[in-house]
Amino acid sequence: MTILAVLQEPDPRLRKPSQRIDLIDAEVRRLAHDMLDTMYHLGGCGLAAPQVNTRRRVIVVDTSASGDAPLILVNPVLHHHGDRMARFEEGCLSIPDLYVAVRRPAEICVHALDLDSNPTAWEGGGWAAAVIQHEIDHLDGRLLTDALSPKDKMRHSMRQQRRHR
Ligand SMILES: [Zn+2]
Repeated sequence: MTILAVLQEPDPRLRKPSQRIDLIDAEVRRLAHDMLDTMYHLGGCGLAAPQVNTRRRVIVVDTSASGDAPLILVNPVLHHHGDRMARFEEGCLSIPDLYVAVRRPAEICVHALDLDSNPTAWEGGGWAAAVIQHEIDHLDGRLLTDALSPKDKMRHSMRQQRRHR
């Protein structure tokens, strides 16, 4: 079991886009499993590779109450169904103590590869759909703080400055 260090906002490395993975080799498989170990260890329900300082397009998610339903998606591509939106209160392992209600498409379909390089798809809604979209955002350098209103953004950065002083 390997617990990786998770980058913390405002680390600029969290803002860099991640690269597609062309070859799923032992290194990618190890990364995915280390990411799962790290996510479970920290009590999160999702983690994206750039959060552990690896700019490659892989995410791990587990929204089950029992924490035994890991989902690993390599090169995930998001499609959404219909216009229905849903709002969930989201947190992030890279931004402690911040919870933001984010409005996102309610029903999604994600195309990806599994660790055996086979095409796979995830389709559904609810909390899991929100978490998957949150993790895909990380692959493009988008963070939860982007969803804050200008006023809340200012409040958040003031709180951060106090913490780093
Ligand atoms: Zn996050």
